Amino acid sequence: MSLSYWEIKSWFTNIDYTIVGSGIVGLSCAWYLKERFPKSNILILEKGMLPQGASTKNAGFACFGSLSEILEDLKSHSENEVLELVEKRFQGLHLLRKTLGDKAINYQNYGGFELFSNLDDELYDTSLSQKNEINKFLKPIFKIDAFSLKNNIFNFKHIKDKYIFNPFEGQIDTGMMMTTLLKKVQSKGIKILNNTTVEQFEETSHSVKIKTNTFEFSTSKLLIATNGFASQLIHEDVKPARAQVLITKPIKNLHIKGVFHLDKGYYYFRNIDDRILLGGGRNLDFKGEETTEFNETEHIQKALETLLKTTILPETPFEIEHRWSGIMGMGSFGQKKAIVKPMGNRVYCGIRLGGMGIAMGSLIGKELVQLLD
Ligand SMILES: Cc1cc2nc3c(=O)[nH]c(=O)nc-3n(C[C@H](O)[C@H](O)[C@H](O)COP(=O)(O)OP(=O)(O)OC[C@H]3O[C@@H](n4cnc5c(N)ncnc54)[C@H](O)[C@@H]3O)c2cc1C
Repeated sequence: MSLSYWEIKSWFTNIDYTIVGSGIVGLSCAWYLKERFPKSNILILEKGMLPQGASTKNAGFACFGSLSEILEDLKSHSENEVLELVEKRFQGLHLLRKTLGDKAINYQNYGGFELFSNLDDELYDTSLSQKNEINKFLKPIFKIDAFSLKNNIFNFKHIKDKYIFNPFEGQIDTGMMMTTLLKKVQSKGIKILNNTTVEQFEETSHSVKIKTNTFEFSTSKLLIATNGFASQLIHEDVKPARAQVLITKPIKNLHIKGVFHLDKGYYYFRNIDDRILLGGGRNLDFKGEETTEFNETEHIQKALETLLKTTILPETPFEIEHRWSGIMGMGSFGQKKAIVKPMGNRVYCGIRLGGMGIAMGSLIGKELVQLLD
C-alpha cells in the first residue's frame, strides 16, 4: 500500500520519538517523554487491536513480592539486587497512583496474603523462621514490618492455619488503569497506530529506519517496549512466558477480599466485582508456556479449577465465566532485573518486566526517558 502525501506529511514526517509497544511501559514512556520534551512529535506503534501483551491481561495485583518469593529471589540475586527490585516495585506503584489517581485505577488497599499448602511444611517453616530477618532487611523501604501472621479468616481449605499478611499490598482495575493511561497519552497529542507490527529497524548516523508490516518511515529515536515479544526484534535475555487466568461469575455474599499468593507466587487470586480471578500454574509446564501464542491449555486450566474447588471456594457454588492468557517477559535463570539500556546511539529498550510489571511499569517507562540526552 502506498501512503498518500497527506498521510506521510501528517503522520510520518519529523517524528522525534517512536515507541514500539503500547503496554504500561510504552505508554508511560510516551507520557514522561512529553513531560520532558513538550514540543516533541511522538508516535506509538502497537501490533494488537488493543495493547496486546500483558498490560491488559494481568491480575491487577499492586504487589511487591511475597515472603517466600523474596526468600527464593535471594537464592539467585544478591541482597542489594533484591532490595532494589522491591524498592522499584514500591516506587513504581507510588508513581502509577500519583500519575493516574487512585479513583481512576480503582486502587483498593485490602492487603496481600500468602497462603501455604498443608503439604508444604518445609516452605512454611522456612518462611516463618525467616520472617523477622526479612522484615528487618526490608525496613529501609517499608519503615515498619511488612510481614506479619494472620489467622485463616477466609476459611480456605487445605492450607496452614496462618497466613503471612502484607498491609502494603493492594489491587487495581487493570482495564481502568490502561484506558486512563491511553486517554492521558492521547490527550497530549501522542499518536497511537494499532495493528502495526514493527518488523525491522536500522540505525543510521542521523535517524532510525523502521519497517512495519504495512509501511516504512524514519524516526529520530526509537524506544522498544515490547517485553515478552522482545526477542522477535532484538537480541536480549528475555523469554516469553505465558500466564493463564480464569474468572468466575459473580458470587453472592463473597467474603474474600485481598490479593492472595500461593506456592511461591506460582498461583495468585483476588476478588473483583464479586468474582474470583485466579491465575497461575505455569510451573506445571514451563517449557510449553515459553511461548508468545495466546492460548489456554486443559492441563493448567484444570489445575486452576481444582484449586478453586478444593481450597479457595470449597463450600461455595461457583461457575467459571471466562478464561484468557497473557504474555510476560522473563530472564533466564530466574533473573528478575528489568533491562533498561541504550542499544546504539538512537535506539533504547525497556523490557523484561517479569510478573510484577504493573508495579514497576511506570518507573521503567520513566527510566527509559532518563536514558535520553
Ligand atoms: C496473566 C498475567 C497476570 C499478571 N499479573 C500481574 C499482577 O497482578 N501484578 C503485576 O504487577 N504484574 C502482573 N503481570 C505482569 C505485568 O502485566 C507485565 O509485567 C506488564 O504488563 C508488562 O508491561 P509491558 O508494557 O512491558 O509489556 P506489554 O504489556 O506486554 O506490552 C508490550 C506491547 O508491545 C506490543 N508489541 C510486541 N511486539 C511488537 C512489534 N514488533 N510491533 C509492535 N508492537 C509490538 C505488544 O502487542 C504489547 O502490547 C501479569 C501478567 C500476566 C500475563
